[in-house]
Amino acid sequence: MPRLSIEVQGVVQGVGFRPFVYRIAHLHGVTGWVRNRPDGVEIEIQGPRTVLDEFLVSLRKDRPAPARIERIATCETIEQAGEASFAIVASGHSAETRPSVPADLAICPECAQELDTPGDRRYQYPFTNCTYCGPRYSIIEGLPYDRPKTSMKGFPLCADCLREYQDPLDRRFHAQPVACPVCGPQLRLTDGHGVAIAAKVAALVGAADALASGAIVALKGLGGFQLLADATSTGAVARLRQRKRREEKPFAVMFQTLAALKRDCDVSEAEARLLGSPEAPILLLKRRDGGTVAAAVAPRNPHLGAFLPYTPLHHLLLAAVDRPLICTSGNISEEPMAIDDADAFERLREIADVFLLHDRPILRPVDDSVVRLEAHGMNVLRRARGYAPLAHPVPSQAPPILSLGAHQKNTIALLNRGQAVVSQHLGDLHSLQGAQLLERTVEDLLKFFATRPEILACDLHPDYASTRLAERLAVQWQVPLVRVQHHHAHVAAVMAELGLAGPVLGLAWDGSGFGLDQTLWGGEALRVDAKGCQRVGHLRTFPLPGGDRAVKESRRSAAGLLWELSGATGPVDNLYTASEQPLLHSMLERGLNTPRTSSIGRLFDAVAALTGIRTVRGFEGQAAMELEFAAERASDPEAYPWAFRGEECLVADPAPLIQALLKDLQQGLSVAIVAQRFHRALAELALAWARHADLKAVVLCGGCFQNALLTRLVRERLLNAGFQVHLPVVFPTNDGAISLGQAWVAAQRSLLDS
Ligand SMILES: [Zn+2]
Ligand SMILES: [Zn+2]
Repeated sequence: MPRLSIEVQGVVQGVGFRPFVYRIAHLHGVTGWVRNRPDGVEIEIQGPRTVLDEFLVSLRKDRPAPARIERIATCETIEQAGEASFAIVASGHSAETRPSVPADLAICPECAQELDTPGDRRYQYPFTNCTYCGPRYSIIEGLPYDRPKTSMKGFPLCADCLREYQDPLDRRFHAQPVACPVCGPQLRLTDGHGVAIAAKVAALVGAADALASGAIVALKGLGGFQLLADATSTGAVARLRQRKRREEKPFAVMFQTLAALKRDCDVSEAEARLLGSPEAPILLLKRRDGGTVAAAVAPRNPHLGAFLPYTPLHHLLLAAVDRPLICTSGNISEEPMAIDDADAFERLREIADVFLLHDRPILRPVDDSVVRLEAHGMNVLRRARGYAPLAHPVPSQAPPILSLGAHQKNTIALLNRGQAVVSQHLGDLHSLQGAQLLERTVEDLLKFFATRPEILACDLHPDYASTRLAERLAVQWQVPLVRVQHHHAHVAAVMAELGLAGPVLGLAWDGSGFGLDQTLWGGEALRVDAKGCQRVGHLRTFPLPGGDRAVKESRRSAAGLLWELSGATGPVDNLYTASEQPLLHSMLERGLNTPRTSSIGRLFDAVAALTGIRTVRGFEGQAAMELEFAAERASDPEAYPWAFRGEECLVADPAPLIQALLKDLQQGLSVAIVAQRFHRALAELALAWARHADLKAVVLCGGCFQNALLTRLVRERLLNAGFQVHLPVVFPTNDGAISLGQAWVAAQRSLLDS
């Protein structure tokens, strides 16, 4: 009888792939075996030719939802005599096996079905899961991924669960977190001091009733605590904003079903697939008029961060409340989420009215991922649940490298044996909790991958918590520390992700990062290859009166820019009180606490202030976002002009741009058209730098490219002029990818040195 050897590559480990192969082998009655290999799964099957063909069809078609098959290679092999059955065998070449840490997966359709089926033994059980779904990364203590090394170790399996766990034909065969109402975790409802209010079903009903009456509920979710509130109630939203001290930043909303979500948002087929995928991210969608969600959830914002219930607990709660819920991280401002009960009581007591808890420990914070689908593909704004810490191939012969990232939206990365593992979004490192989480995550990754880094990498900024930790570890481990310029790392991250060797032109546009020349960079054109980075263009620098305060007050960027261009601040003087003006002018005249910047993010701020769209406070990126939304409302082909100077390094001078813009405003042109012309000017700037650099491949990166309109205009302009445009797909364009870029730069340097 014929025998086939099959190699399957892709995401096929930790997603129930071998049990799936076992089941279809039994179904088709073939003999042979399946085992994990370092780079995928290897199968041998033997049987009649037609049956083998059916097996191959089923292998592709019926694969578990979380599995991704990138390649299947088959070849004939020698018939084995006397083989009676099909078996899952131990992994081959265990020394070569690259460990992988599976990501948390959203509840699968089968489990959701059981949840809703009266009489099923897991009917309405909030912690049901199987090989295809459920917690992973958030409950794993160590590898290999087995129940005793998870936070489920304190829940001995009942006889029924054990039978399922041991039966290769069962969907729960070797599902490490398998549980049922008899043996698994349970719910309880408490007040802010842990005093019990209700348990099990009554706890769920109690939480649902609280939400329906406008209360705020702290929910112990999958990867941390979340704050929930009725998204249709203006009062509940206002209460949450006031208690969380979050004035205007949009909240994400969880909808019970796709049908309910479609009442509030436009959803394409591709977007619907992503919403229902095992990763189940928060998706930024276009908001519909007349939806059910209160306007205050995302004020003056045409988009809504929407998602579907991804745990059985969310399913049950949403069904019980029967309305969309705000579902936001359980923290204050940008601190890490609370993951244990005591910490949650401490930090969230003043915000939440009641706490819906369970007794399955969460071992590390894993936030919800945030994604937007754009014309060019996926734009990952926050990479966490469902995606992290899945490894990404980055072929390299370099020794193990650990990089600690930047300061905001931070991640860390481990580059080892041809793959990069980038941690989940860790958030900002301003707080003590943030710095502690950074350190714990370093320990986590090194433990999981049993690696001792031989090189460390960090940012150039001396005061980042990540830089300080890198310096300490470098001394402790006696390894070299590579400091990588922020925007160089931005470009390198995209090169690492897409496997670009360079040279490329990297347009790294963001808020600001520490430059090589004592200024704050952020409007950069960089020529990058394996050897290094050369600055071939930048925005003319301008002063930022007040330094860091300018990030929160766009009027400061406007004042600094006008001062630079004209020596006066006339058009924005009305944004300052009579008592503020002398201080502003003295700062600008004497250059006190007034760093210079070439940041395009700050140029966005300046234009937002000049147009009156946003002048003072707000959340990070708000001014640029509102400028983008304004521009989306207009359609105008014109672009404001630039002046250029310099030979090697082409400096872009926004003087003519600002002049034309002020004239338009004086003449009463609509802010929408002004904003549109400004966006188009930036597309022209990209093209000017691309022509100057004379490199075919252009990489777009940095926080500014979270702006969908800017990305589209720049991309189209460059493509039409014959350039290749590269954007990240798997990793964020913002600082969440800095760690990956640092690791890539350190790897190239180590290879050049050796
Ligand atoms: Zn399942
Ligand atoms: Zn059980």
